[in-house]
Amino acid sequence: MKVLLSFDQIHARILEMGEQITADYSGREPHLVGVLKGACPFMTDLAQAIDLPLTLDYIAVSSYGRATKSTGEVKLVKDLDQGLEGRDLLVIEDIVDTGLTLNYLTSLLGARGPRSLKVVTLLSKPARRLVSVHVDYVGFTIEDEFVVGYGLDYNERYRNLKDIVVYGA
Ligand code: 5GP
Repeated sequence: MKVLLSFDQIHARILEMGEQITADYSGREPHLVGVLKGACPFMTDLAQAIDLPLTLDYIAVSSYGRATKSTGEVKLVKDLDQGLEGRDLLVIEDIVDTGLTLNYLTSLLGARGPRSLKVVTLLSKPARRLVSVHVDYVGFTIEDEFVVGYGLDYNERYRNLKDIVVYGA
């Protein structure tokens, strides 16, 4: 499959994002919430690139399942372990596509009283937005192509690829 973003490109960009977040959150302790399962490798590498004390938690929502098209339905599958009251929350996504998942997550988590809420995504496909969502930190903006690797799956496979590749290409 065609490599869209190599492991080295991904890591170089994550270091930049980590530096930016470190500067923006200086003197604070961000609370990172990763969206399972796709954001796992990104969450781990980004957390290491942030030079601040921080805490981590995970949430799972229903995704595409066995198809490459969105159903538009978002369901909470696994909730957070910790509360968000007074925290500087950073939601960590693998990819923002239609925006439906992020829209659901920001209203759900925003209602739990965080002091601040910002969104970080490794990838963004703006051409496919169905709802307008605000993303504070974007790793890469990509075309309307279905990608796998570095956490992203097709039918639960390919999450372990080091690079991000175009599925089927
Ligand atoms: P949205 O709700 O923004 O349409 O979709 C977000 C979720 O859809 C992502 O967290 C991811 O699980 C899945 N998704 C969207 N685009 C892609 C893609 O190109 N490849 C893969 N593997 N998953 C995608």
